[in-house]
Amino acid sequence: MVVILDSTATREQIAAVQREIEQAGCGACPAQESRRTILGVIGDTRKIDSEQLQRQSGVEKVLRVTEPYKKANRLFHPENTVVQVADRLIGADKLTVMAGPCSVESEAQIVEIAQAVKTSGAGFLRGGAFKPRSSPYSFQGLKEEGLELLKLARAATGLPIVSEIMSVSMLDRFEAEVDVIQIGARNMQNFDLLKAVGQTRKPVLLKRGMSATIEEFLMSAEYILAEGNENVILCERGIRTFETYTRNTLDLSAVLAIKRLSHLPVLVDPSHAAGLAWMVESLSKAAVAVGADGLIIEVHNDPANARCDGPQSITPERFEALMQSLRAIARCENRVV
Ligand code: PEP
Ligand code: MN
Repeated sequence: MVVILDSTATREQIAAVQREIEQAGCGACPAQESRRTILGVIGDTRKIDSEQLQRQSGVEKVLRVTEPYKKANRLFHPENTVVQVADRLIGADKLTVMAGPCSVESEAQIVEIAQAVKTSGAGFLRGGAFKPRSSPYSFQGLKEEGLELLKLARAATGLPIVSEIMSVSMLDRFEAEVDVIQIGARNMQNFDLLKAVGQTRKPVLLKRGMSATIEEFLMSAEYILAEGNENVILCERGIRTFETYTRNTLDLSAVLAIKRLSHLPVLVDPSHAAGLAWMVESLSKAAVAVGADGLIIEVHNDPANARCDGPQSITPERFEALMQSLRAIARCENRVV
């Protein structure tokens, strides 16, 4: 349920409406829409007499929200959410570009890539320290040492770091050491992990599960928001379809749908979507053209010998060219890179 207050509603009137909602055992989350206040109601709203609420002074309209996600719903929060990380804004006019290797492999590798992507204009360094691999025999990441190397690369470049968490047991370390905690596709419905990151105020990059519907994706975001962490960034990274030419199928229509249904920023990961380095530039441009708030791209200085996801990784030189070509598309969309 959403209660839209009149633009002339006084603070006392708004507080009275909030009290009424709370007396019914529900919570009221206020948001501002231009000059009006909106109260998003969470909890069992069947106990609320919406007609009586509608009659209260200061109330313009009461709407029932049919979607199961509430705090992630644009009706609850009409303005776009902008997530701040250090001095960077995710979801604002400037597109967010996160770039770096799939996995951190060595100090020389991560620092060299970080310096290169920074020079080309990336705003964040990505790098996996704990890797969710399909095979237990594949490289699982440098783990804690990987986090240390990411911190060295951050110190060398000033780029905030983004890295994937796999277990609640690592949360204290991630909270203290990384700038954006990534939850990968395979953990999109790890509800304990979602609740745990929800208890922090750390920005969370939540990737869409490979078989998740848009609604399931938004419900996973809701788990984090429901715990009080509003710093959620969504990432479309391709879904499983019958097609095998590409690793996944990039669902660009999901970007449009999510921007309509939700106020949360949406990034696109063309690397995991395609699984093919040669597609990354074109898919990146397409993502910006449909209104994505940014990109997360795998960049490796030696893709042929990468320990993970080499075939989809682009070189720093290709990344530089990609950033140049994005600038023109961004301008058409009234954005900057
Ligand atoms: C990754 O970003 O390296 C990754 C494993 O992504 P996803 O969870 O989307 O597969
Ligand atoms: Mn990867």
